[in-house]
Amino acid sequence: MKMHNFNSGPSILPREVLQEAAEAIYNFDTVGLSILEIGHRTEWFIHVIEEAKSLVKELLGLDDNFEVLFLHGGATTQFMQVPMNFLEASKGAAYCVNGIWGKKAITEAKLFGPVTIAGSSAGKNYTFIPKDVSIPENSSYLHFTSNNTVEGTQWHHFPKTDVPLVSDMSSDIFSRKMDFSTCSLIYAGAQKNVGIAGTTLVIIRKDFLEHKNAGIPAIMDYKNHIDGGSLLNTPPVFAIYVSLLTLRWIKKEGGLAEMEKRSLERSTFFYEALDQLPLFLPTVAKEDRSRMNAVFTIEDKGLENKFLEACTENGMVGIKGHRSIGGLRVSMYNALPMESLELLVKLMEQFSHQYTS
Ligand code: PMP
Repeated sequence: MKMHNFNSGPSILPREVLQEAAEAIYNFDTVGLSILEIGHRTEWFIHVIEEAKSLVKELLGLDDNFEVLFLHGGATTQFMQVPMNFLEASKGAAYCVNGIWGKKAITEAKLFGPVTIAGSSAGKNYTFIPKDVSIPENSSYLHFTSNNTVEGTQWHHFPKTDVPLVSDMSSDIFSRKMDFSTCSLIYAGAQKNVGIAGTTLVIIRKDFLEHKNAGIPAIMDYKNHIDGGSLLNTPPVFAIYVSLLTLRWIKKEGGLAEMEKRSLERSTFFYEALDQLPLFLPTVAKEDRSRMNAVFTIEDKGLENKFLEACTENGMVGIKGHRSIGGLRVSMYNALPMESLELLVKLMEQFSHQYTS
């Protein structure tokens, strides 16, 4: 049976990326070795990482004022590494808290200095994006999560501020066109739209680095990683290679303009169906709905479980909501074919028909 992958991450990858990655495990390029066997300081790997970095900048429309790193440790490490490098204890930092990932980022930041909550939707279970953001003028930076993977909300416009903007874009990077140059730092775990788990993309504006704290452990210091070309220690070679393949795929398909077009098509199609089926209840404010993760529930939890069983029987995986909030979640990342969504919507219609009196 063909499986339809709605996982929130690690998640669906383009078929051809998987095929190329599989081939490279046996024979990388014409090297005669596996990608798993080559040294990270070889010319072969230097080409891989340099092409990946340059594609990141090209696709996001960033110039040489930005540095690109592929690090270890997942986005969770960035929750700590960002404040360790950039939170000046005398100034503090501002955080928008609009989901559990943002909340975790704050917990880490508080270890390094005072944190001001600039905007929060905690009072309404993170079901909307805070519109009134109030940022102390002198903050080291403003941190926000551009797409809330768990709760299913998304910033459709980045917050406007004069303080440096730091964005966790783990679950919507490379899915839409924005002016990314307004950000001083962007980070994203690779395992949604940039490849597989094991590497984290970090993009930093050079002028922001001038404000970096001193006395940071060597491996945590962004400047050391930049000076070492992301090769400060052994990088996750295979994960970075899969990122390169994914970035090449995005470019070949038409770049961010095409990714955004497809993402709009998918999400519009899915939300329109959702709004017409009274059995399924969307949980977030309409204007803040995520184009990557649609979150909804069925009031009767018994029926919700039945629906999940029906999904499994039909080869549809990854629809169970995050363990912290339950419910249902459909992730619609770059590689998801429209056909998967069409089949899911058909199943939802049948299910609704069967169980709505
Ligand atoms: N931020 C966001 C928005 C996420 O979706 C996730 C994980 N899904 C994380 C951070 C944590 O990422 P990781 O597991 O790579 O540490």
